[in-house]
Amino acid sequence: MFISTDIDDKFNSLPSFLFSVSNVDYDVVVVGAGIAGLTAAIYASRQKLRTLIIAKDIGGQLNITPAIENYPGFKVVSGSELIQRIYDQVQALGVEILFDEVVGIEDSEGIFLVKTKDGYEFTSETVILAFGKTPREMNVPGERELKGRGVSYCAICDAPLFQNKRVAVVGWGPQAFEAVSLLCRYNNYVYLIHRGRSKLELEKIPEKCRERFEEYPETIVREVRGDAKIRSIVLESLENGKIWELEVDGVFVELGYEMKTEWLRGFVELSREGEIIVDMLGRTSREGVFAAGDVTNIPYKQAVISAGQGAIAALSAYNYIQEKKGGAKIKSDWREIFRKDV
Ligand SMILES: Cc1cc2nc3c(=O)[nH]c(=O)nc-3n(C[C@H](O)[C@H](O)[C@H](O)COP(=O)(O)OP(=O)(O)OC[C@H]3O[C@@H](n4cnc5c(N)ncnc54)[C@H](O)[C@@H]3O)c2cc1C
Repeated sequence: MFISTDIDDKFNSLPSFLFSVSNVDYDVVVVGAGIAGLTAAIYASRQKLRTLIIAKDIGGQLNITPAIENYPGFKVVSGSELIQRIYDQVQALGVEILFDEVVGIEDSEGIFLVKTKDGYEFTSETVILAFGKTPREMNVPGERELKGRGVSYCAICDAPLFQNKRVAVVGWGPQAFEAVSLLCRYNNYVYLIHRGRSKLELEKIPEKCRERFEEYPETIVREVRGDAKIRSIVLESLENGKIWELEVDGVFVELGYEMKTEWLRGFVELSREGEIIVDMLGRTSREGVFAAGDVTNIPYKQAVISAGQGAIAALSAYNYIQEKKGGAKIKSDWREIFRKDV
């Protein structure tokens, strides 16, 4: 599905030599719509680059961040509010967005062919990889097929869809406990399933939820069953090998996040941890391909850092295109301008 907004008149009045004769679909394809990708799109479109964002969702990790206290300009802000504000800005600039997953990129003499899971293909002068981290899957039969049909990776996003139901939370740690509490608040009966021996201290969940809560430690999920919707999960006890089926209306997988960059191996250089290696200008090992945010090898995975990297990658993409076309590059050192004015 495409979302596209009309470009505001005031932006049309800017010089647009980059729109000139070209049979390449876009100047920039941004992969990912977390804070890095959205910021990259703002900067790219303000340089009049024809910009397309392809993303599986809007917001990425910020969707599950209830309170951020270290983003400049806000004493405290929820991840969803921050991302909504940035998304509004992106929409006001008329950036095109496609909800899809990028599954491959090919380089044909400096023009990139970006391929999506739903079978779309786009050519672009540059690509900005900003696809962050992805929720870790259980990797069991039925999981992928029932994604969005009972299998969820975001309790904050999907809990309201489950009320007075039986749901399982798979995982251990603050993220899983928060999912348990949240789902309890919607009057669900909640199972907590995890492979460890420890048991959740009941004080960690609201008192009214405790009667509607059951825990299976030392247990793993073997399979997710259902057709149009999830029906049950198959569990295995690590303690005694017992296998049984548990009827549920939903499963919330809370196993943290992982870097999914294997599909880019050989295309751009990756670190041992699978992060995309970039230099200080957001350039990857392949000319014309830039990267930003948590997916890169830049340390300190933080929202403000991802946003900054998004800006750098977009301006570098602009300069790369300008260099190819013989146009003027951006000089982003304000001191020079002030000196000239004095
Ligand atoms: C629980 C939690 C709390 C946090 N708290 C804070 C905090 O208080 N302060 C702070 O500064 N930071 C915090 N962070 C870190 C911060 O959220 C991240 O650093 C930041 O959101 C990373 O942004 P990103 O755009 O690089 O990636 P992500 O947010 O991971 O976004 C990735 C985007 O790429 C998309 N995508 C993935 N794969 C593909 C694909 N193949 N094709 C198309 N699209 C794809 C996703 O759908 C998503 O839109 C927290 C993170 C978590 C998980």
